[in-house]
Amino acid sequence: MAFEGLAERLQGTIQKIKGKGKVSEQDVKEMMREVRFALIEADVNLKVVKEFVKKVSERAVGVDVMQSLTPGQQVIKIVQDELTQLMGGEQSPIKFNTKPPTVIMMVGLQGAGKTTTSGKLANVLRKKYNRKPLLVAADVYRPAAVQQLQTLGKQLSLPVFALGTDVSPVEIARQALEHAKEEHYDVVIIDTAGRLHIDETLMQELKDIRALKEPDEVFLVVDAMTGQDAVNVAESFNEAVGITGVVLTKLDGDTRGGAALSIRSVTQKPIKFVGMGEKLDALEAFHPERMASRILGMGDVLSLIEKAQANVDEAKAKELEEKFKTQSFTFDDFVEQLQQVKKMGPLDEILKMLPGANKIKGLDNVKVDDKQMGRVEAIIYSMTPAEKTNPEIINGSRKKRIAKGSGTSIQEVNRLLKQFEEMKKMMKQMTGMATGKGKKKMKL
Ligand code: GDP
Repeated sequence: MAFEGLAERLQGTIQKIKGKGKVSEQDVKEMMREVRFALIEADVNLKVVKEFVKKVSERAVGVDVMQSLTPGQQVIKIVQDELTQLMGGEQSPIKFNTKPPTVIMMVGLQGAGKTTTSGKLANVLRKKYNRKPLLVAADVYRPAAVQQLQTLGKQLSLPVFALGTDVSPVEIARQALEHAKEEHYDVVIIDTAGRLHIDETLMQELKDIRALKEPDEVFLVVDAMTGQDAVNVAESFNEAVGITGVVLTKLDGDTRGGAALSIRSVTQKPIKFVGMGEKLDALEAFHPERMASRILGMGDVLSLIEKAQANVDEAKAKELEEKFKTQSFTFDDFVEQLQQVKKMGPLDEILKMLPGANKIKGLDNVKVDDKQMGRVEAIIYSMTPAEKTNPEIINGSRKKRIAKGSGTSIQEVNRLLKQFEEMKKMMKQMTGMATGKGKKKMKL
């Protein structure tokens, strides 16, 4: 997991100060020594570390003067605030042009994930912002980059403007912009040529594309795994072409976090999105505050809720609630629920967003067994419609048949039936309480 070492160290430091009723200057000094060490180890830019420690120290030394009940907690809040500020403070939204099309230029070094991110971004724009995006294949240098974008377009059912590799990128961009106007696309995403390193001719080419029509956003795509290098790349691109924001990719890997913590401070450009995997829906808006909470082990409940909201159908949820209330929840509903949860992503990733998750030893090695879920589904699929609606009728011979049909054992069938009954009981209590009936019951 990204930030693991940093999170562990910072949380250890915080633990020491958490319960303190009084925080002395010496306490702050000691804590800051550890914080500095943790940040340096996470490959955070040295200047940034110094500045951060200075800010937190100044604010933290004052807290024991304040008549606070828990100065320790206050210090933690200061660290969290400053971490948030360091990563940009507020979430930075995409700037759309009031006169479409909005033009977004994607720039970056080869292998950073620029082409993949272009596709992911177009997907986000369509799904979340209801836009009609056009992808433009202007990376004519990297072998197969044009085909790669076309394949992504096919997978996402999104249009890709391409003219092969014999036409200059500037000409491709020019024609794409015309095409977008004619066909009323409202966002144009230009996948420009990647480069192995900063190179004068190619930079000039980016400037020429820029000059066609001032882009509303120039997103630099950088690989979070490259740490300090990502920061240097960002600085160079910013000086040469000017960027408006950064997309940090591969944050799903075990990066130490230095890039995420330094880029904003060094370049003054916000991180707008983060890549969280190779899949095409693995691009998330970057929320500095949530990331700070996650690093400090306070969980990222907001992202979790958003994930759930994006995947759960409102109408279905209402229907389900009704079923709980009227006790008509069946195994068919149960299987549907399982599938909803699965859509949120791998369960082990979801677990990591819970508060305190980083403190659970070995959570990183926990692989929630998708196979187990598969077995549960298989059992349910082996039931007849009558059994799914009225599990009470499942007697010994039916259990035998179900176990055989699903390739499981009678014990597993029993376990599931028991869990299902318990869940129903729990739901009954919960809905009872919500409607006030529970109170009466408790008095009895
Ligand atoms: P480009 O040369 O910058 O256009 O890079 P590509 O888009 O071809 O990406 C390079 C590799 O990085 C591909 O294998 C991508 O699947 C992978 N990649 C891109 N973004 C992410 C991410 O957020 N997480 C992970 N794990 N892999 C990514």
